[in-house]
Amino acid sequence: MKCKDKVSIITLGCSKNTVDSERLMNQIKLNNGKLVDDPDQAGIVIINTCGFIEAAKQESIDVILNAVSLKKQGKLNKVIVAGCLSERYMKDLELEIPDVDRYFGTEDYEGILDELGGELKYNLLGERLLTSPAHSAYLKISEGCDHPCSFCAIPIMRGKHKSKPMEDLLSETRFLASRGTKELVLIAQDTTDYGIDIAGKRTISNLLNSLSGIDGIEWIRLMYAYPSKFPDDLVDTIASNPKICNYVDIPLQHISDSVLKSMRRGVTSDKTKELLYKLRNRIPGLTIRTTLITGYPNETEKDFEDLCNFVKEFKFDRLGVFTFSVEENTSSYILGDPIPEKVKVERKNIIMEIQKDISAQINNDFLGKSLKVLIDRIEGEYYIGRSYRDAPEVDCEVLIPIIDNHIKVGEFYSVEVCDSNEYDLFAKLSG
Ligand code: SF4
Repeated sequence: MKCKDKVSIITLGCSKNTVDSERLMNQIKLNNGKLVDDPDQAGIVIINTCGFIEAAKQESIDVILNAVSLKKQGKLNKVIVAGCLSERYMKDLELEIPDVDRYFGTEDYEGILDELGGELKYNLLGERLLTSPAHSAYLKISEGCDHPCSFCAIPIMRGKHKSKPMEDLLSETRFLASRGTKELVLIAQDTTDYGIDIAGKRTISNLLNSLSGIDGIEWIRLMYAYPSKFPDDLVDTIASNPKICNYVDIPLQHISDSVLKSMRRGVTSDKTKELLYKLRNRIPGLTIRTTLITGYPNETEKDFEDLCNFVKEFKFDRLGVFTFSVEENTSSYILGDPIPEKVKVERKNIIMEIQKDISAQINNDFLGKSLKVLIDRIEGEYYIGRSYRDAPEVDCEVLIPIIDNHIKVGEFYSVEVCDSNEYDLFAKLSG
């Protein structure tokens, strides 16, 4: 690579951005570029931004401004900005923050490498430099989204749904397994849409079964499933394939029919509940994660009450709440932002309080039970791990006291749960 500066990549936003940064890092390495984790040690900083909602956009802008000020102090030679915020607002950013050397959109590896005086090794794009512990890795199975959700700007930044060819995903997974990956976390905007563009039908089950045939992979976890067209064969695949965690992340956003309609989610309250019952009835010990939005423009007090009752009734294992963020160029933009931020946050906190009690009860029900746990790290007096019920970075954890048990990070262990709180489980090695 022509440029001799050390390069540091700052990744903001979601796990899909993490995968993009890992690909770019590997390409820089393949071009004999020098990578450093600490931006203070670098000559060039590449910021992989997020442009999803207001808070994420502000964080990206703050990081860009900080890098630009380091450059003005002569502590950096070049600042490169890429990713969703740049994809969405490139013209504005070029005008408002001209001190950035170059702006790139999403997945523009070739452009960035050219800027660094390197070249894209296209046939090695499936390889990545993992930033997570090697034993657990994300696999991005498609890019973009065809859903018209009224509040969401992701299709503006990531384009239409595009499945990655199965052969590419299988070779990427073989690569990850050869690097020690045991847990594969499948991500996309909508994982259930996999194959619709390349096979003319949803082939997520075939993909899951094929991935589970790769040596070394022991757990496969499905994130970002969409409720409206959840393939029936996917239910059976999760229930029957021992390597696929009985875990589904399915963002539902709301339960009131008038809100779901305005959100253009393409699903009703009844259909949502029908799907959840089906999943629970047909997949033993299923763990369901969901995310909800409070403060959507047409959400009435009654709609919010219905949402609270829904959370109380279905007792989700894992739940997150976002407050509505008004986003230009989305179809909900014309609705404005009538619900005060204070009310949005109050509603979010009310749901999280309800969920805290539910989570405490669900965790308490695991006392005395055995679980298979993957150890992620050591923290203080504990080994920190996760069971099939916990996705990395977003869910709960299993804490095992460090006594004389020589547990290894990245390995699976059978444990017995001996205590719990609203979020975590405490366990000891079985036997
Ligand atoms: S499914 Fe809806 S919320 Fe999710 S990325 Fe697509 S448009 Fe956005």
